[in-house]
Amino acid sequence: MKTIKELISESLTEVAATRDINRQNSISRVYKACPELKEIDDQILEVRNSRFIAVIDKDERLIKRFDIAEEELLTKRGRIIARNNIEPDFDEEKFICSECSDTGFVKTADGKVSVCPCRENELEMCYEQSGMADYPSYKMKNYRDDYLGDASGRKKIKGMMNDLLKELIGKSREESKSYIYVYSAPPQTGKTFLSICVCKTAIKLGKSAYYAKCEELSALGTDTLEALKHIDFLVVDDFADTVTLSNNVGSVLNTLLETRAASRLNTVLVTPFPVNELVKKCDMRISGKLQSAKKISSEGR
Ligand SMILES: [Zn+2]
Repeated sequence: MKTIKELISESLTEVAATRDINRQNSISRVYKACPELKEIDDQILEVRNSRFIAVIDKDERLIKRFDIAEEELLTKRGRIIARNNIEPDFDEEKFICSECSDTGFVKTADGKVSVCPCRENELEMCYEQSGMADYPSYKMKNYRDDYLGDASGRKKIKGMMNDLLKELIGKSREESKSYIYVYSAPPQTGKTFLSICVCKTAIKLGKSAYYAKCEELSALGTDTLEALKHIDFLVVDDFADTVTLSNNVGSVLNTLLETRAASRLNTVLVTPFPVNELVKKCDMRISGKLQSAKKISSEGR
C-alpha cells in the first residue's frame, strides 16, 4: 500500500514533464504564427553566446557592443510581441493546476492541508490500496443523520468520529492517554459507511489510513501488516469476540494494537456488540485493552 503523499510525490515527475511539453508546444505555436519573433529570438541567443566568449576573453569593448546589441534586439522583440498580441510569458513554464501550483495539496478555509481536487485519481487509487476498493461510493457528503432512524444518535457518533479526525490532524495526540477506540452501535446503523468515510477523509487530509475487516486481518500479507503498524489511522470493522478467537486473529490484532499504542497511533475497533460483553468473551490480551479503550457510542453503554 502507498500513502497519498507517496502517490502524489511519485506523480510529480510526470507533472513536471507535462509542464515542459506544454511550454515547448506554446513556443512552437507562437513561432509558427510569427516567424519574425523566432528570428529575433535566434539572434538574441547568438548575441548572448558571443558575449559569453567575450567575457572569457575579457574583451570589455566587445562585451559592451554585445550588451547594446541585445538591448536593441529586446526592444524590437517587445514591439513584435505587442503588435501581434502575443502573451509576453508564452515561453515560460506554467503550472498545470493554479489551485495547488502543482503540489497536489491545498489549504482549506479552516487552515487544514487537503489533497487538491486535481488529484482525484491519486485519491481513488489510495482508497483502493487502503482496503476500500469495494466501497467507491461511500462519501461523507452522502452520510445522513436521519437515514436509519435515531438521528440524534447518528449525529452524536459522527461528532465523536470528527473529533477523532481533528485529533489526528492536530497535535493533541501526545496529550491523549488512550489510542484504542471502540465504536459500538447496533447492527444496521451505518457503522461501516461512517468508518469508511472517516478513513477516506483522513487520507484526503494527507494522512495514511487503512480500513480492514477484523476477520481478514490474519489473511493480510506481511508487508501490509507491517505497514498497518505505522500508518496514522486504522479502522478494524466487524470486531467481535468470536473473531478474535479464531484463525490467529487475536494474536495479529493484539500485536497491531500494542505497536500502534506505543507509537501513539489511533486505532478504532468497530463492533455491533456492547463493550462490557466483549470484555468478558474476547481473547484475553485484547480484553484487557478494551477495558481502557475510549468508547464511541450513541448511548452510555
Ligand atoms: Zn491542484
